[in-house]
Amino acid sequence: DAGTQSHQFQAEVAELLSLMVHSVYSETDVFLRELISNASDALDKLRYEAISKPELLAGAEKLAIQLKPDATAKTLTIADTGIGMDRQELVDNLGTVARSGTKAFLKGLQDAKDGLGLIGQFGVGFYSAFMVADRITVTSRRAGTPETWVWTSSGGAGFELAPATEEQAARVPRGTEIVLHLKDDAARYLQPFELERVIHTYSEHILFPIELLDDKGEARQVNAASALWQRSKSELKAEDYTQAYRSIAMAFDEPALTLHYKVEGRQAYAVLLFVPTTPPFDLSDPGRKGRVKLYVRRVYITDDAELLPSWLRFVRGVVDSEDLPLNLSREMLQNNPQVTQIRNGLTGRIVGELESSATKEPETWTKIWNAFGAVLKEGLYEDHERRGQLLAMARFATTAGEGRSLKDYVADLKPNQTEIYYLVGESAERLKSNPKLEAARARGVEVLLLTDPVDAFWTSMPQEFEGKPLRSLSQGDVDFGLVPLLDDKKAEDQGSTEDDAAVLKAVKEALGNKVSDVRASQRLTESAACLVAATQGRDRELERLLARANR
Ligand code: ADP
Ligand code: MG
Repeated sequence: DAGTQSHQFQAEVAELLSLMVHSVYSETDVFLRELISNASDALDKLRYEAISKPELLAGAEKLAIQLKPDATAKTLTIADTGIGMDRQELVDNLGTVARSGTKAFLKGLQDAKDGLGLIGQFGVGFYSAFMVADRITVTSRRAGTPETWVWTSSGGAGFELAPATEEQAARVPRGTEIVLHLKDDAARYLQPFELERVIHTYSEHILFPIELLDDKGEARQVNAASALWQRSKSELKAEDYTQAYRSIAMAFDEPALTLHYKVEGRQAYAVLLFVPTTPPFDLSDPGRKGRVKLYVRRVYITDDAELLPSWLRFVRGVVDSEDLPLNLSREMLQNNPQVTQIRNGLTGRIVGELESSATKEPETWTKIWNAFGAVLKEGLYEDHERRGQLLAMARFATTAGEGRSLKDYVADLKPNQTEIYYLVGESAERLKSNPKLEAARARGVEVLLLTDPVDAFWTSMPQEFEGKPLRSLSQGDVDFGLVPLLDDKKAEDQGSTEDDAAVLKAVKEALGNKVSDVRASQRLTESAACLVAATQGRDRELERLLARANR
């Protein structure tokens, strides 16, 4: 009719949609997790905005999420009484993808063998509903506004937008109603027990009631809707935590570590944090936000309060404060001294927990380190205070093996060895054939082979472990000093200093000012020469990285 307008999807959305529509991805359950999570976000936003504008809650509909399957019409309706969307928000939010990581996601889908596995990991948001529906109608009214709008799409190139009819508007006095016209092969989502199963698996700990309506229109609450972190540890089982992790972090895996505690006293807050088992594919994305949610007295405030340093950005969970003011703006949170205090407390506890896993649970720790070690290493240059702890939990590939700790390294020092040696490069393979290893090898000295991009950065600062400085083999003059050669190398260690001086002079003249110096070195036993950086200068690998990053 006259009021209906057609809109084009942004190209990325169209791409996502064609993926969803033709998806052979079998784990379609995620659509419900995504829609319920959006409904919960919308309720959170309403409650937050209502702190300063209580009139938004007028009409007093309960804050809840309702699911209504209709077997005759083959539709599933998901409705919430949250913040809702006005016309422009419908266009922006359900016509474009603003999420960080979407590009990486789409690229990953093209590149990866099992690209579809990424759908679950990424959580494709609203658009995942097109995996199960061939037509979707969204009716929404922004709290505090008089208009209700209807968005409709069959998942092709675009969507339609029209003002709601009187009947539609009456059905949605506030918030959002999403009607999914289910595909034939998704008809199981019309069955209450199937919906309940999915809710228990992924949305059990959504803080708002999730209600299932039966044919007579009667509502029954399905989820616990309790703040699990407020309960005492003794009444909770491992499954409860796994379930909480999945609904809070929107994850599929098991948590590798769970941290649940309460702080009392001058600042009181409850903490429930998880270290995942599998890294999200966008972990290295600098735009990736922290994932710890801040609540104040059970009211969700933000996941943007930087409750953890960025080198702990893989940690998920909730912090619920008793003392922070509710009406503190999100911006002001950044400089709030109480938040700073919470941040310090959390960081200390998590590092302590990681440390104890590293010493007491080698198997778990290997998994955690393999997944997040490269991120933790960022802490080595960002957090001076915790450097020692982080170095102790770090695991390295070395010339002596995989998964070596510095403790292992120091225990195996050669006689008279006073330093910890390392080489930075792109791959362990390439490093192993590096001539700079020769002198170390000739003495049986272990060398750390550092191949994460971050390695060039943290090693650019002075580091030491148990009083032993870390020393790059590609920088300055490495003096193995009194570390004896292995027996079979001793015979080769001959030559006169006079010969050396003559050769050095000749080479230096030939190279002129292309080099700052030419020296005899203990470093090589088989190769004739190699290039090194000055002791004071930047590591050569760091120089290459910086050149690449254009700095
Ligand atoms: P994300 O939740 O990560 O932002 P989604 O694709 O799930 O991505 O949703 C896109 C946006 O659409 C949300 O950020 C929100 O602004 C809006 N939205 C989706 N569902 C609802 C809803 N039920 N109520 C209000 N806004 C919603
Ligand atoms: Mg979402």
